[in-house]
Amino acid sequence: MTEKLFYKDSHLSEFEAEVVSCCPGGNGLFEVELDRTAFFPEGGGQYADTGMLGEAKVLDVQEESGRILHFTDAPLETGSRVKGSLDWEERFMKMQQHTGEHIVSGLVHSRFGYRNVGFHLGSEDCTMDFSGEITPEELADIELEANRAVWKNLKVETVYPPRGELERMEYRSKIEIEGPVRIIVIPGYDRCACCAPHVGRTGEIGVIKLTNIQRYKGGVRVTMLCGVRALADYAVKQQQAKTVGAMLCAKENETAEAVGHLKEEYEDLRYALGEKEKMLVSCMADMVPDGEEAVCLFPDEMEGDSMRMLMNRVLERGHILCAVFCRCSEPKENGPKTAYRYVIGSRTLDMRSVVREFNPAFDGRGGGKPAMVQGTAHGSEAELRTWILKKAEEMSL
Ligand SMILES: [Zn+2]
Repeated sequence: MTEKLFYKDSHLSEFEAEVVSCCPGGNGLFEVELDRTAFFPEGGGQYADTGMLGEAKVLDVQEESGRILHFTDAPLETGSRVKGSLDWEERFMKMQQHTGEHIVSGLVHSRFGYRNVGFHLGSEDCTMDFSGEITPEELADIELEANRAVWKNLKVETVYPPRGELERMEYRSKIEIEGPVRIIVIPGYDRCACCAPHVGRTGEIGVIKLTNIQRYKGGVRVTMLCGVRALADYAVKQQQAKTVGAMLCAKENETAEAVGHLKEEYEDLRYALGEKEKMLVSCMADMVPDGEEAVCLFPDEMEGDSMRMLMNRVLERGHILCAVFCRCSEPKENGPKTAYRYVIGSRTLDMRSVVREFNPAFDGRGGGKPAMVQGTAHGSEAELRTWILKKAEEMSL
């Protein structure tokens, strides 16, 4: 059994220990067992501590039946004494999140009676799954209450109650287990069985920010950032708000309204552009000489709707067949041929028989109805035009 120094002092970041064993642990790593350690192994929804053992990097820590195994990138001599040091900022950050989670879960439990049925402390954020629904307004209340617990700077207590007392005690995560049960007490807020290291006083958490809530498995999943993570998130959001505000010439906290105006303007412009495109389509159709029975057009940049509109306008004017091609990729040297979107229509001829031959000839895809086919094809403007006009002639126009 490895002596767990993190239970004696959760703020111990450096320690000395004896190497009990060291053997290859797969993936080029070494599996090191010490007589004592301050490294908290992966477990209870929390990832393992990292740091150094002598000159070796500790990349992972796992517990196997009371033995704590450190996975290092270099071997250590069995029987030697070694200095261990934790990546303290990372560990302290995790304690901020974990104690914050206890406060929030305790408040949710006492107010709604919901259980925390899933806790995950990840490398980006921390999520808690509750067994019932909470509204965003209720969550805002919980957040404020949780921060009041932080401001009170309460001592976080660890107790191992004797059996009889334990059975009578109300606490979260109550399960029947052998041996002493470690209860983390945040006076007035929470009592929960937990094996992880916690901050000494709630003030160390700094701030608790609940950033998201979503429905999840009949309850809700709440995302939380505490302490250093909340501060980092604030910095990102502030930078975003500043940048957006500068672009919109709006105050940082009034960007939503400015974006609303911008969106209205955008919709107006889109409508105006649509009207202009309709006019353009009419003009293009009117410019086609009357005598041509088969018409092939290659407009620059045109939406699919406008391509169909152009085709219909041309057919309305009495032309028998109309093909509209719009380039969707630039030709590359020695590369694939230029890609075109196409629309081909006729009021009298069956376009399905045209497209059946057209697609194989131009590495194309697409199809449609007798009156109109559409899709994509590859080739040059000259090749496409020649093929369409020849085909129209064949169909005895
Ligand atoms: Zn816990």
